[in-house]
Amino acid sequence: MFGRKKPEVLVVGAGPVGLFTALSLARRGVQVQIVDKEWRTAAHAYALALHAESLRLLNDLGLREAVLDQAYPIRTIGLYDGADRRAEMTAVDLVVMRQDLLEGLLEDALKNHGVKVLWNHRVAAMVPEDDHVAVTIDKLEKGSTGYAIAHTEWIIAKTKEFEPAFVIGADGHRSQVRETLDIGYPGIGDPLHFAVFEFHTDADLQHEMAIVMDDQTTNVLWPLPGGRARWSFQLVDFEDHTAPRRKDRFEIQIGGARFPVLDESQLHTFIEERAPWFTGSIDEIEWRLVVRFESRLADAFGAHRMWLAGDAGHMTGPVGIQSMNIGLREGHDLAKTLANILQNDRSMENLDRYSRQRLNEWRYLLGLKGGLVAGPQTDPWIAQRAQRLLPCFPASGDDLAALAHQLGLEAETVTASV
Ligand SMILES: Cc1cc2nc3c(=O)[nH]c(=O)nc-3n(C[C@H](O)[C@H](O)[C@H](O)COP(=O)(O)OP(=O)(O)OC[C@H]3O[C@@H](n4cnc5c(N)ncnc54)[C@H](O)[C@@H]3O)c2cc1C
Repeated sequence: MFGRKKPEVLVVGAGPVGLFTALSLARRGVQVQIVDKEWRTAAHAYALALHAESLRLLNDLGLREAVLDQAYPIRTIGLYDGADRRAEMTAVDLVVMRQDLLEGLLEDALKNHGVKVLWNHRVAAMVPEDDHVAVTIDKLEKGSTGYAIAHTEWIIAKTKEFEPAFVIGADGHRSQVRETLDIGYPGIGDPLHFAVFEFHTDADLQHEMAIVMDDQTTNVLWPLPGGRARWSFQLVDFEDHTAPRRKDRFEIQIGGARFPVLDESQLHTFIEERAPWFTGSIDEIEWRLVVRFESRLADAFGAHRMWLAGDAGHMTGPVGIQSMNIGLREGHDLAKTLANILQNDRSMENLDRYSRQRLNEWRYLLGLKGGLVAGPQTDPWIAQRAQRLLPCFPASGDDLAALAHQLGLEAETVTASV
């Protein structure tokens, strides 16, 4: 099942972070295998932008040009208070890129390195040992059961045991790797709900990401290629407002979760109430659903021979697309650290450092320590919203500090790449 050479590292999960991490390992000459319980990559652009740091890392993997060929550049970030434009930042190397296209590029690049993603392979159990992890993997196949109406379900076709030196859990927010290690994943604050609409429009959005803040909500408009746009409007008291209508509510299934679908009229109302400056047409709505976003941070990013990257270790709100992008950097750091341990006999203590650095950065980004500091010259509207702005920057580390600086805010620099 795993080819002639035994993998040194098993990556669990072929989302953007797992694919990126596996490619980073393969390019460093590490024998890697990547498995995913699903049958293919994401079918939609959930996290839709790539930060400057992600483009640098993709450049190191030889993929920057291929990404830019399919990406849509963002040049400015506008800040609005309802109808009023309050501030503008210049964006450097920020692009809109569909998550599914990115995953396709990464999967192809992995193939070119001789690594095929094993789809329909679910990690069922992991037991950490002194010098390896004993992993059990179920190979899933479609089976038909039933009489009058055939019913298709996934069955276990084969079970395999194997023993990589390390496991990377890039297996998303319900991470089994994290659960196996018994690492807590506490929530931070209340979950946020956003009404997300993607549609065709005649508006000239001028390559600008627009963030609209009022006293209670944060909303964001991303221009998309092909004359399209995505509006995400934060909902207040979502459950309460919709309770009487919940029974009739139409929902769609994405992965293991169900997402309520919205009415088109709600988009018009949100725009009129929160962003009356948006006067473009709304021609064809391709996507309209309510998405729940939690903020969570793992108590540690792994232990001994099993380590976490991406949503397996953290979750945050959608505006700044921080979770996936910082997840890519985590994959890069983990790949570099493991390659050094496997090939140069470096100390395993570097993995603990990886975990401490991740926790440090996310505690900052999730508002658990420190924050953005306003000076005497900072516009009072910005100063009052400094903490709410932190998760909205489409950047991290020094890039985030540079964007914040444009608004007169000083940020702690916690890039902390290993
Ligand atoms: C509807 C929706 C809208 C979103 N919108 C935004 C947005 O606007 N902004 C934003 O920043 N983010 C958004 N996100 C979140 C974004 O998609 C995630 O941050 C990103 O996908 C995380 O990448 P990841 O690789 O860490 O994890 P994932 O993409 O979750 O990948 C994890 C993979 O692990 C696999 N897996 C899990 N368990 C096992 C197992 N036991 N064995 C084998 N494989 C396993 C899963 O099948 C999955 O493919 C959205 C997500 C959804 C669902």
